[in-house]
Amino acid sequence: MLKHLLIIIYSSLIASSYAEQKLSVNYCVDPNWAPYESIVKQKHTGISKIFVDLIAEKSNINFILVPTSSWEESLEFVKSGQCDLIPLINTSEKRRQYLSFSDDYFRAPNAIYAHFKNPIIGNLSGLTNQSIAVVKSYRLHHHLSKHFPNTNLVPVENGFLGLQKVENNEVDYFVGSFHAANRIIQENNFSNIRIAGIANLEDQLRIGVAKEKEYLLPIFNQAIAQITKEERKKVTHYLKSIKIIEPPNYRIALQVSCLFLIIVVILLIRYLQLKQHGRALADKNMKLEELHHTLAEKNLQLTELAMKDPLTGLFNRTHLSKIIEQQIKLTARYQTQVCMLMIDIDDFKAINDNHGHTIGDNILKNIAKTLLSIARETDIVSRWGGEEFVVVCPETSLEEAYKLAERIQKGMTKIHIDEISGVTCSIGIAELEKGITASEWFKYADKAMYQAKFKGKDCIQIMS
Ligand code: GH3
Ligand code: MG
Ligand code: MG
Repeated sequence: MLKHLLIIIYSSLIASSYAEQKLSVNYCVDPNWAPYESIVKQKHTGISKIFVDLIAEKSNINFILVPTSSWEESLEFVKSGQCDLIPLINTSEKRRQYLSFSDDYFRAPNAIYAHFKNPIIGNLSGLTNQSIAVVKSYRLHHHLSKHFPNTNLVPVENGFLGLQKVENNEVDYFVGSFHAANRIIQENNFSNIRIAGIANLEDQLRIGVAKEKEYLLPIFNQAIAQITKEERKKVTHYLKSIKIIEPPNYRIALQVSCLFLIIVVILLIRYLQLKQHGRALADKNMKLEELHHTLAEKNLQLTELAMKDPLTGLFNRTHLSKIIEQQIKLTARYQTQVCMLMIDIDDFKAINDNHGHTIGDNILKNIAKTLLSIARETDIVSRWGGEEFVVVCPETSLEEAYKLAERIQKGMTKIHIDEISGVTCSIGIAELEKGITASEWFKYADKAMYQAKFKGKDCIQIMS
C-alpha cells in the first residue's frame, strides 16, 4: 500500500517535471499480429498504433519503437531492458513476473478456426484430443497447455502459419485472435477455413511496463481514462476495413446442385420416355406400312384372281367381256378394225381320256404360253372356257387376223407333253362390225369356229 502511494507521488512529480521536459519510452510490439499491431517497413501500424498515439498525446510522453522480428524477441527485449514497455498485451502469471500492467483499454475475442470438413465445436471445452495450432508464447498457448493437457498443441511462429496448417488440413484447429485471423484468411484467400467456435478466453489488452518503469503506470492509466468514445471510433473504422470471413455456404451450393441434378434427371427420363414412345410409334407405323403393303398386294392378287384364269394365268371370260365392251366403244369412236379369234382345241376330250387330266392341264398351260408368245402385245389373249380360247386383236384387219391364226396353228403343232406331240385347233375369225353387241360378236366368232369344225377341224374360218 505504502509502495503504491510512493509510486503515485513519484509519478505525479515526474509528470509535472515532464510538462516542461518531454520524456521518451522505448516500446516493442508483436511484428506479426495485424490488425492489432505489426511492423511494416520498420514502422508500427495497427490498433495498438492508434492507442499509442492517443496515449502519447494525452501523457505527453514520446513513444519510440524498437523494431523486433518476432513476438518472442519483443518479450525478450522487454525482459532485458531494451524496451520499456509493450503497449498491447494480455496479463498472465508468467508475464506478471517481469511486467506491470496498466488498466485494459481494448478487448477482443479469440476464435477457433477449422477446416470446413471438421465439426463446429462452439467453444474451447469442445476440444478433446485434436491437433490445435497456436502461436508460440501467446497467452493462449500457456492457457491451452495448462487447461487442455490432452490436446495435441502445435506451436507456430505466427497466426499465418497456424491458419495455413488448417487450410492444408495438417491440423484440426487453430485458436487465435479473431481480428488477426480474419485478416490473414482474407489476405491469403484461405477458402477452406471457417469459424468453428469462439474461445471462452477474451483478450483484455493493456500496456505491459517493465518493472523498473512501473512508476509510469498512473500516467498511462490517466491517459487511457481520457480516451473518448469518439477517439475509440478510429479503431472501429480501422476494423471495419477488414471483412469478417463467411464460411463458404456449401449447403446452399449442395441444395442448388441437387435441384439442378433432379431437373437434369427428370429431363433425361422424359427424353428417354419420349424417345421410347417415338420408337414404339415408329415401330407401329412401320408395321402399319407393312400391313398396308401386304393388303395392297393381297388386293392386287384378289384383283388378278378376279380377272385371271387360275390354270393358265390368261384373262378369264368375265374380264374379257369388260375389255370387249371398252373395245366396242373405242372402235365406234375411232373407226378402227378389230378382229376376234375363237380357238377350240380339236378332240381334247380324247387327250384327257387317253393321257389323264393332269396331262390335259399341262397342255392347256402350254397352249396359253404359245398364244401369248405368238400374239402381239396389244392383243388380248383369254381363256373362254374349257379348251376354248379367244384372242382379240385391235387395229387388225381380217387378213392380218388370218395370218395370226395360221401362226397359232403352227405354234400348237410344236407343243410336246409326254407322248403327245402337237395339238390341232379350229379357229373362227369375226371382225367387229359397226353397231353389233359384244354377245353378237362372240356369236359370229363362235359360229365361224364351228364352221371350221364342220369342215374337218384343224382349219381357219372367217365369219361369212
Ligand atoms: P371337238 O374337237 O369337237 O372340240 O372335241 P372335243 O373333245 O375337244 O370337245 P368336247 O366339247 O367334246 O370336250 C371338251 C373336253 O375338254 C371335255 C373336258 O374334259 C375337257 N376339258 C375342259 N376343261 C378342261 C380342263 O380345265 N382341264 C382338262 N384337263 N380338260 C378340260
Ligand atoms: Mg369345245
Ligand atoms: Mg374341242
